[in-house]
Amino acid sequence: MPDFRPPVRDDLAGISPYGAPQLDVDVRLNVNENPFPPSAQLARDVARSVEEAALEMNRYPDRDFPLLRAQLADYLASESGVRVSVDGIWAANGSNEVMAHVMAAFGGPGRCVLSFPPTYSMYPEYARESFTELIEIPRAADFSVDMDAAIATIESAKPSLVLVAAPNNPTGTAICLADLARLASATRAVGGLLVVDEAYAEFRPTGTPSALELLADHPNVIVTRTMSKAFAMAGARIGYAAAHPSIIDALRIVRLPYHLSLVSQTVARVALAHAGELQSGLQILRNERDALVAALGDRGLQVAPSDANFCLFGVFADRHEVWQQLVDRGVLIRETGPAGWLRVSVGTPEENARFITALDESLADLGQGAMVIDE
Ligand code: PMP
Repeated sequence: MPDFRPPVRDDLAGISPYGAPQLDVDVRLNVNENPFPPSAQLARDVARSVEEAALEMNRYPDRDFPLLRAQLADYLASESGVRVSVDGIWAANGSNEVMAHVMAAFGGPGRCVLSFPPTYSMYPEYARESFTELIEIPRAADFSVDMDAAIATIESAKPSLVLVAAPNNPTGTAICLADLARLASATRAVGGLLVVDEAYAEFRPTGTPSALELLADHPNVIVTRTMSKAFAMAGARIGYAAAHPSIIDALRIVRLPYHLSLVSQTVARVALAHAGELQSGLQILRNERDALVAALGDRGLQVAPSDANFCLFGVFADRHEVWQQLVDRGVLIRETGPAGWLRVSVGTPEENARFITALDESLADLGQGAMVIDE
């Protein structure tokens, strides 16, 4: 092949594509997927519905997919008790693409976006791709949002967008509705929007309110959700958002034509019709998460309290060494978060047991020096 250097944008030179290693090992606990696959009945219904839809595939799909949006609104009402109108719902290929629409419509040159690291590692990429300045306010030692610093920065920097993952990834940290309301009000006062990324909302403890409850009084709030986690549909790539209809209208301007394929719309609708099946699996995962947090704590490790389907734990002198030891034992977790910490996704009870055994063996192999003692 001839040597060729395409004229890639200067700001992209030397940057690698985002993504965790996709290794073929027995126990994959690295990207916060739901370890329970869809039921055989759901798989059959998907196949049947896609077959039917295929008979119309010579045509472009419905650009505004009202049937899917209505089903998403019904799901949110049953999940959170908050009823959002159909014109207040949007969907795209994963909540990543929903965020790309949000950034394209409300970010841009001369504007800034605020986030609270350690947090979802795509946020800087969203900012880069939309040419929006990124301002980061580090979280406190317990990974909570530093509210005073947040409000002060919102007032001074006047961001167009404030991004908060609730619960946060990779820490699992919850943020209470009152704090989100304060962030929403402060952001509204400077003409900005608050995006609450609820990718992991379904794993929150029973009785915890969703940020959807803010929508009625705070028209500048966008809540994003996904079918990739609780819905066990990461492979289908469906994410969605709830917000004031005027916000959704702006997202419709920047989306590519027919961005959500007929196959995606069909699969999402069938999965939503089976939403009831998810509940028992979700309860198992919540219990397993709590057991995993306890098991890691029992080993003298620091563990961040988690409302999500993963736990962040540490602190290791060389986290890569621990990660590699686990891979060597067939368990893949994620090197992410602050230096010395690792994140493990909650798997099936069998996978979690294998992870704990592999971790015990790895730490025994590495010896006392592997752990940093918190003085
Ligand atoms: N938000 C957060 C906080 C996430 O962790 C993820 C996935 N890892 C996403 C959004 C994106 O999810 P998806 O595009 O699969 O909907």
